[in-house]
Amino acid sequence: MTGRTVRAFVWRRIDFRETSRLVTLFTREAGRVHALAKGAHRPTSTFLGRLDFLNLVDATLAGKGAGLLLLSRVRLVHEPRGLREPARFFAANHLAELCDQASAGDRPDPDLFDLLAGGVTLLERCPTAALPAIVLGIELRWLGILGLLPPLLECSQCGAPAAGRRPLHAGRPGEGLLCRQHAPERREPVALPVLELLHALATQPARAWDSLPVGPELAKGSALVGRWVAAALEHRPRFRGAALGRPEASAPADRAV
Ligand SMILES: [Zn+2]
Repeated sequence: MTGRTVRAFVWRRIDFRETSRLVTLFTREAGRVHALAKGAHRPTSTFLGRLDFLNLVDATLAGKGAGLLLLSRVRLVHEPRGLREPARFFAANHLAELCDQASAGDRPDPDLFDLLAGGVTLLERCPTAALPAIVLGIELRWLGILGLLPPLLECSQCGAPAAGRRPLHAGRPGEGLLCRQHAPERREPVALPVLELLHALATQPARAWDSLPVGPELAKGSALVGRWVAAALEHRPRFRGAALGRPEASAPADRAV
């Protein structure tokens, strides 16, 4: 990393001594990178206004050996002004939480970086009404990157396909979707249109997400995927409810999907 310029999202900043900041950058090629922005608090600092959360920057890093890297220069590539609207802001924070939890620290994870970059762009620009579909599409991609996305149109146990009169059933966390035969005793059917919407979001390019027909299937699919996300995170996502403009279902399996 020494003396190199990397494209990165500004991730976290903490104050360091009187005038400096310790900055965490999220990069495509090196995962999370920590660097000291000396004098970032001074009113004359060239870093001023450039080290805000989710700014996309070209950061030049200097330093040697195992010592702390110094941030020598920051060029602002994109400032996500579109995220100032509350629902978009919360959705972006939800996306950031997903990427933060899944990121393997200092190891590169280009898939996560691309999800973040594509997600921020979509969340900035999509029609407000499309936000819930975009959030759901992002979550499905994220589960896919983690290897935690179950098959959406067939039983996870036996591969029996879903059909109009044979829906699948939500299994316990980690079990995916199950046919009637393999479903838990307390069955929770997920109708075919819901499964088809989830499948479309999971497989179609992101630019098509906001043109998918949105009906009651979206809320039902979102409730189901919200449980998968919470199971993957091992806690309730902090910003999801605010991003979707509604309180989250508190307990898993407390309502039919
Ligand atoms: Zn089965």
